[in-house]
Amino acid sequence: MIVAHLPAGYIVSTLLFHRFEKYGASRLIFLRAGLLGSIAPDLDMIYFYGFDHRAHPHHSYFSHFPSVWLLLLTLAILCFQHCKQKKLALLALIFTGNGMLHMLLDYISTNIYWLAPFVNRPFALITVPSVYQDWWLNFLLHRSFALEILIVLWATCLWCRRRLARHELVE
Ligand SMILES: [Zn+2]
Repeated sequence: MIVAHLPAGYIVSTLLFHRFEKYGASRLIFLRAGLLGSIAPDLDMIYFYGFDHRAHPHHSYFSHFPSVWLLLLTLAILCFQHCKQKKLALLALIFTGNGMLHMLLDYISTNIYWLAPFVNRPFALITVPSVYQDWWLNFLLHRSFALEILIVLWATCLWCRRRLARHELVE
């Protein structure tokens, strides 16, 4: 997935906020934690380009292992259930939840190592053929990119609706 991680994080965070509003986190902080979580796995690109010099696929780093995000999400759920201070645990919950969502979205058209670190084998729901020299063009012109466009449109609609509702409140 190329462009839809952030919009997907926005959709999930926006739709879930009202359920968790009572725990004291402001909408803005909740949204920021959710958006950061939705792109956090891709921060490994810094290591990929800066230190690994593209020697290994960045999806083979631990930062893209679903087991890591599942573990973090489980810890966040446990903290949320058992800690008295729910606000911080809630932010960890939306952060790790969107990190896990990132794994699912990446899995649609790129390799994800679902069984890592135990089995070093990638899985992808759809294989995007390498037709063009530029890797991103292969994804952009593949039918699976339609899903990304839908996610971006959905997020845009949500954002516009919120802005409109806020504008009506002010007037
Ligand atoms: Zn990714």
